[in-house]
Amino acid sequence: MDQAAFHLRETGHRLTRKGRELRVRVMAIPGAEDGGHAMIFGPIADACLVRIHSRCLYGDALRSDDCDCGPELDLSMDMIQNAGCGVLVYLEQEGRGAGLVDKARGLRTSEVFGLDTFDSYERLGLCADTRSYENAARALVHLGIAVTVVPLVTRPRSERARRYLEAKRRRRGHTIPDESASTLGRAVWRSRRRWFMPSCWWRRLLAL
Ligand SMILES: [Zn+2]
Repeated sequence: MDQAAFHLRETGHRLTRKGRELRVRVMAIPGAEDGGHAMIFGPIADACLVRIHSRCLYGDALRSDDCDCGPELDLSMDMIQNAGCGVLVYLEQEGRGAGLVDKARGLRTSEVFGLDTFDSYERLGLCADTRSYENAARALVHLGIAVTVVPLVTRPRSERARRYLEAKRRRRGHTIPDESASTLGRAVWRSRRRWFMPSCWWRRLLAL
């Protein structure tokens, strides 16, 4: 067993969620700007689900209705838990990489000037999205995981969330089948265990 596999095994423990237990192991993903952690639930198996999620304190922890982050994370975990295995890659890329303070400035600017958050960032001199998934991709390769797309459909929980989803569809090319009702997330992936990642899947992963 190599050192990385040993450390991964040493993190294994039981996690209880929504009244059910599952096993989880944790692996750090290095990266000053795009690092985070991979949480491996159950065994790494053929066709296990992979969710790559960028941190959103408001949506993930405070359960804000203003964006789709919380519902997408929750549904992804439900799907992984129902499947009995899967991987959650949680990246510390708050506010599309801008950080919480600049995200808050962007939200305030949106309120004051009636802009979407992409225009708000631009007005503040911030990049619309500086997130990177290269280190996440390397971690999945390390785990022997290649990915294909699986639809993730959540409903916006507020008018503000619906407008945000529409802005992401229009400005960032997110695939949303019905702008008034739901969003087709691209962040749950069905994996197939491979010891290499075909370049088409690699490109698709990096295009998250
Ligand atoms: Zn969010």
